[in-house]
Amino acid sequence: MSEKHLKDHREIGRKLDLFSFHEYAPGAIFWHPKGWIIYQTLVNFIRKRSKAEGYLEISTPVMVKSLLYKNSGHWQHFGENIFNLKVDGEDYSLKPMNCPESTIIYGSKIRSYNDLPIKLSEFGILHRKELSGVLGGALRVRQFVIDDAHLFVRPDQIQQEIHKLLILTIEVYKSLNFKPRFYLATRPDKAMGDEITWKQAESDLEKALKKAKVKYDIKPKDGAFYGPKIDIHIKDSQDRDWQLATIQLDFQIPKSMRLTYVDKDGSKKEPVMIHQGIFGSLERFIGIITEHFQGAFPVWLSPIQVIVVPISDKFTDYAQKVASDIISNSIRCEVNIRNNTLPAKIRDATLQKIPYICVVGQKEANSNKVSVRKLTGENLGGIQNKKFIQRIKNEIANKT
Ligand SMILES: [Zn+2]
Repeated sequence: MSEKHLKDHREIGRKLDLFSFHEYAPGAIFWHPKGWIIYQTLVNFIRKRSKAEGYLEISTPVMVKSLLYKNSGHWQHFGENIFNLKVDGEDYSLKPMNCPESTIIYGSKIRSYNDLPIKLSEFGILHRKELSGVLGGALRVRQFVIDDAHLFVRPDQIQQEIHKLLILTIEVYKSLNFKPRFYLATRPDKAMGDEITWKQAESDLEKALKKAKVKYDIKPKDGAFYGPKIDIHIKDSQDRDWQLATIQLDFQIPKSMRLTYVDKDGSKKEPVMIHQGIFGSLERFIGIITEHFQGAFPVWLSPIQVIVVPISDKFTDYAQKVASDIISNSIRCEVNIRNNTLPAKIRDATLQKIPYICVVGQKEANSNKVSVRKLTGENLGGIQNKKFIQRIKNEIANKT
């Protein structure tokens, strides 16, 4: 692919009718039906994986009293990024992170040592201040959702849980064909808590990285204010480097939010919190993969996976029957019955980046077949309808 043909995600989003931006809401995205399919497909993918790993999904308020962030420590360390407003004379904020709110749910009842780890996931809407000058399509927004999760663990569970997270992250990226690279980000100058706790946390993360047998580099002083973290980067098709996932260890917020669990001996102990996001901001992630794939998404993510094209209106009925069979197999399929020539219809499907084009005429109608061509131009010839449907189902299941 030559440099000059590469398109920006905003242009691809407009051409493929995925999403748009409007001056009514700078830094926020209007998701069109097709873009929202991609969004929901990614959310459901993470949801399914998380459920299998024992995560419990929660949802917490977007607008809360600023006092919560003052108590959690975010106000002091992150305050310049928070949107504030007055309601009935009181200070409120739009939540910039889900962490403090997830601690409210953790703290809503007494937790015992054998309840831990408790893993709470949330797709909460977040707002962070970005200057209007630096807003850049989906890559830098004011409103976004992170595939967020907070794990509340005992100190003796840290390494095992971090290890599981590293494996999960590697697997998720593999299904998108990305090879992750790892960084350990250490104590920043502006940090909460004492140095001994920080050293312990850094060493816990380092051990987990070694156990997962991944190579990593150090990002000195690049940790969060509440703890060190593992940043996970990928390279896209244009060889650009992106930081997506993070795994953060946190001894501070449990302290500031006074979280406890009852230990074996009946004494109250403080849990450790692990912050986790695999894709990071979904808005930014979709912006990145839109450019990475240049709109030609893999089948499982494509808003329209198959288009059926009759060679003339004589075959409209057969085309519609084929499409309804495909749709009843949970495959996203459309029929093009517009009064256009066949080459024009194929060109249109190609511009829409639809992975599979099924052409149907007399020969296909006689034999219950479709003539299949891929977006890449590859011609697969005539295939039995059932066989074709099975092929697509396999591709979706295997995320190829
Ligand atoms: Zn968090």
